[in-house]
Amino acid sequence: MTFESLGLADPIVRAVREQGYSQPTPIQAQAIPAVLNGGDLMAGAQTGTGKTAGFTLPLLHRLAAQGPKRDAKGRIAIRALILTPTRELAAQVEESVRLYGKFLPLTSMVMFGGVGMQPQIDRLRKGVDILVATPGRLLDHHQQGTLDLSHVQIFVLDEADRMLDMGFIHDIKKVLAILPAQKQSLLFSATFSDDIKALADRLLNQPALIEV
Ligand code: AMP
Repeated sequence: MTFESLGLADPIVRAVREQGYSQPTPIQAQAIPAVLNGGDLMAGAQTGTGKTAGFTLPLLHRLAAQGPKRDAKGRIAIRALILTPTRELAAQVEESVRLYGKFLPLTSMVMFGGVGMQPQIDRLRKGVDILVATPGRLLDHHQQGTLDLSHVQIFVLDEADRMLDMGFIHDIKKVLAILPAQKQSLLFSATFSDDIKALADRLLNQPALIEV
């Protein structure tokens, strides 16, 4: 199996090739077509399985196929939101977005707490297609009115089990409440407790199920 045969656009295949990946990992082989289809996804995958590219590559493909969207102020609107439990993971995921999207005209930003709000506000003002964030800081920006999530089309909850372990359930519910109802949602988790299943029930609409 190849990345081309999964239906990914040429600029993405080129970026992946530059990374030296010869073929999709099992999670990628399953997740990429499912996400390209536009449906929701519930995926069981540990770190190290290639899950990040599993959601990033088709997400980039879908956004690039459509072209940028502008908000009421004429700025590039956020069309994809990826939520992660930690700053480190947020930074890593955004790095992957940049790497795999290097031949595409898409912009990304990482946002987490523990650093000043103002540089993030300045960056948001310039407009961004893809936002990778931790829940607390995301909500801070939303409360301050410096973040518009009304154009989000693809929502990814990465390492959902760790998010719940870290006590983020209330924050996640608040985030869900401010996202558009109509969207593609992807949930990645290493484990599936009853709490994760309840969250999935709330978030996902007839999801494809993948476990590797
Ligand atoms: P992840 O599970 O997303 O944290 O990815 C684990 C590691 O696998 C990362 O260092 C990726 O660069 C690498 N990786 C992702 N996809 C592939 C692939 N198809 N072939 C080889 N390495 C990959």
